[in-house]
Amino acid sequence: MKLADRVNKIQPSPTLAIDAKAKALKAQGVDVVGFGAGEPDFDTPAHIREAGKKAIDAGFTRYMPVGGADDLKDAIIAKMKRDHNLEYTRDEISVACGAKHTLYNISQALIQEGDEVIIPGPYWVSYPDQIVLAGGTPVFIMTDESTGFKITPEQLDKTITPKTRYLILNSPCNPTGSTYSKEELAALGEVLLKHDHVLVVADDIYERLIYDGLSFYNIAQVVPALKSRTIVVNGVSKTYAMTGWRIGYACGPKELMGAMTKMQSQSTSNATSIAQKASVEALNGPQEPVAAMCVEFEKRRTYIVERLNAMPGVSCFKSNGAFYVFPNFSGVYGKSTPAGKKIETSSDFAAYLLEDAKVALVPGIAFGDDRYARLSYAISMENIKKGMDRIEEAIKNLK
Ligand code: PLP
Repeated sequence: MKLADRVNKIQPSPTLAIDAKAKALKAQGVDVVGFGAGEPDFDTPAHIREAGKKAIDAGFTRYMPVGGADDLKDAIIAKMKRDHNLEYTRDEISVACGAKHTLYNISQALIQEGDEVIIPGPYWVSYPDQIVLAGGTPVFIMTDESTGFKITPEQLDKTITPKTRYLILNSPCNPTGSTYSKEELAALGEVLLKHDHVLVVADDIYERLIYDGLSFYNIAQVVPALKSRTIVVNGVSKTYAMTGWRIGYACGPKELMGAMTKMQSQSTSNATSIAQKASVEALNGPQEPVAAMCVEFEKRRTYIVERLNAMPGVSCFKSNGAFYVFPNFSGVYGKSTPAGKKIETSSDFAAYLLEDAKVALVPGIAFGDDRYARLSYAISMENIKKGMDRIEEAIKNLK
């Protein structure tokens, strides 16, 4: 069948593909340790599930306003004030079917053919493809361990051109877990203040998953003069273990929020009514489950970083946020598997681990750097230990 050219311009999400492969093997009875998942292994907290059930019984099962119900917008407004001291009105909020959909709406509403969007790398897999779909050009600023996987003000300044439409900032970051400090954001903000045609899309989806006593900052909070040019993207998926409920949102200039809602009115219409009610409870209700989840994630992060760094040929940066580590495995490249296959790329290494060690991880090439791989620690400690033992053994078996 002849498909539209735009289909061939993009790749299916590689992270979802790895996760699906690991789940399929598990379904066949193979004992796979899956480090591919981009979702918490915890259940949605009971009080949030209850709010969803109540919403069904109370009849919230019909079409809703496209850009989000007023009670959810009010909960978002209260959260933005409480957590970040940022003030918004209802027409400065747009609710969509997940943060991914929100980011998609932003790209569709802002990008003209040939516009550039700056993406710090290693980056989340969907950013470049969404930009390409909108007719834009992704421009990468690649980083590594030497700067804690963070871009510098100098790099940013050099990369901005008259065609730059926006910069995507994702802190804590998927896949590296790196988190920008207040001072680092202030320094980037100074550069952005010099270029007033550049907007900032702050993807704050991992904002609450932060360790080592660090605090989260949004650039609009640190540099108030940038608020009118900042679009904050967030959602309930990661913080409240609600990945399947599909609620994400943006806060930003009224004109843009209106444009995103207009685009959405011709695609999905409103995000699910029941999930919106549950999200009101997530944002307004008790926050203890989030804190408990963070304590567990931090323990796992510390363990996994120690184990990886003890393996020959592996070095793992100790990141402070999200639920990912991004170890550098390039020290094992050039070696051969017991079956005689030479490991030359992150995909070779991932394939070897899946076949021989029954461990699934996502090759770094999917995030823009072939030296690394991403491991999610949103799996039980027991499975993390098992997975680490298997990777250690598999590396020992390389010649
Ligand atoms: N942004 C980043 C950096 C992510 O890692 C993800 C999910 O993996 C999303 C956005 C999308 O989250 P959702 O669409 O579930 O809200």
